[in-house]
Amino acid sequence: MKEISRRNFNAKVAKGVGAAALLGATPWAISKTNRNEKDKLGIALVGLGSYSTYQLAPALVDTKHCYLAGIVTGTPEKEKVWASKYNIPKKNIYNYQNFDEIVNNKSIDVVYVVLPNSMHADFCIRAAKAGKHVICEKPMAISVEECDAIINACKEAGVKLGMGYRLHSEPYTQEIKKYAREKTFGKIRYISADAGYHSGSHPQQWRLNKALSGGGALMNMGVYAIQSVIYGTGENPISVSAQEFSTRPEYFKDTDETITAQFEFDSGAIGNIMTSHNISANRLFASCENGWFELDPASTYIPLAGRTSRGTLNFPQESQQKLQMDDFAKHILFNTPNVASGEMGRRDMVIVEAIYESIALGGRKVQLEFPPEYGF
Ligand code: NAD
Repeated sequence: MKEISRRNFNAKVAKGVGAAALLGATPWAISKTNRNEKDKLGIALVGLGSYSTYQLAPALVDTKHCYLAGIVTGTPEKEKVWASKYNIPKKNIYNYQNFDEIVNNKSIDVVYVVLPNSMHADFCIRAAKAGKHVICEKPMAISVEECDAIINACKEAGVKLGMGYRLHSEPYTQEIKKYAREKTFGKIRYISADAGYHSGSHPQQWRLNKALSGGGALMNMGVYAIQSVIYGTGENPISVSAQEFSTRPEYFKDTDETITAQFEFDSGAIGNIMTSHNISANRLFASCENGWFELDPASTYIPLAGRTSRGTLNFPQESQQKLQMDDFAKHILFNTPNVASGEMGRRDMVIVEAIYESIALGGRKVQLEFPPEYGF
């Protein structure tokens, strides 16, 4: 599998070099109008729900290093609509049953799994076995065991694995990561992150069905809050204690409504998160030795905004999904760092499980330990 993939990509890069030489430019500086899809990696989206429809597919029109080459859908009516809107040939359209035939499709380099959480592991593993690189949406899966199975399948197949953690490619978040790394405001003493929204009245949605979602607010928005306290400190936590709150048990019958959790870090920093399907909040705040920094909102698609004790942050706004998918394509093509690895997705699932464990233990502290390769 590895060999086939590498040959495929080298051929693509070589074609890019040839075209560039003719145009007197470096391969990836060819203008958008002249750029050929052959120079880019072909992505197939699996699951054409709201995130694929309104964020990923439009972003793939503007990506420099990848493009929307195929789709995998369980809804036949979507095939024609997507095919005509995005010029997708019939041979690149699959359903959930014939998906494994993608192994024979040379136009598809990357499979991006955008399904309900309980389906991530199955499709990521099948994609890896078909020799395709994999992007997995958050949360990575519904258990650490499933995360391990995805990571192992990708390793065995020799394919790359990335998480759909778009914020790592986004400039406000990158600035926060820099403050954490360089201790711009001195040591971080306290960090808090809130991520939630008010779920009106849609009881049938899969996010409220534990078999499909794996959990409620924590599995959904909670992942952003966990990520925030980690990249906001540049450290993995060493312990967590958590509490659950329920005010609408008749609506949140199967999944958690609101959770708070407190983290300890080796440096002495203390973290606090709140995540909810009943409370709207979207913020990251850090109090440091010599000042503070804040993002508000911290994890919406666009636009983020931020301030520090030294002034307002001001970065250009671009599609986060575009930046994210191009970052992953560059990781495959040019071996640049994987900014949101499968190990990072697994780490977050370890924390999710520890939070549920702490709640089950009445808020008792649960110790955490991560190997250094689990990046921030
Ligand atoms: P959605 O409900 O809009 O779409 C889900 C898709 O899965 C639909 O096309 C649906 O037909 C399909 N599906 C297949 N089997 C299904 C089943 N048994 N029940 C329900 N749907 C089924 O969801 P979405 O908002 O597009 O979320 C999909 C994934 O993307 C989730 O894992 C979610 O956490 C993630 N997501 C990530 C971001 C982000 O910013 N990174 C944003 C939104 C969603």
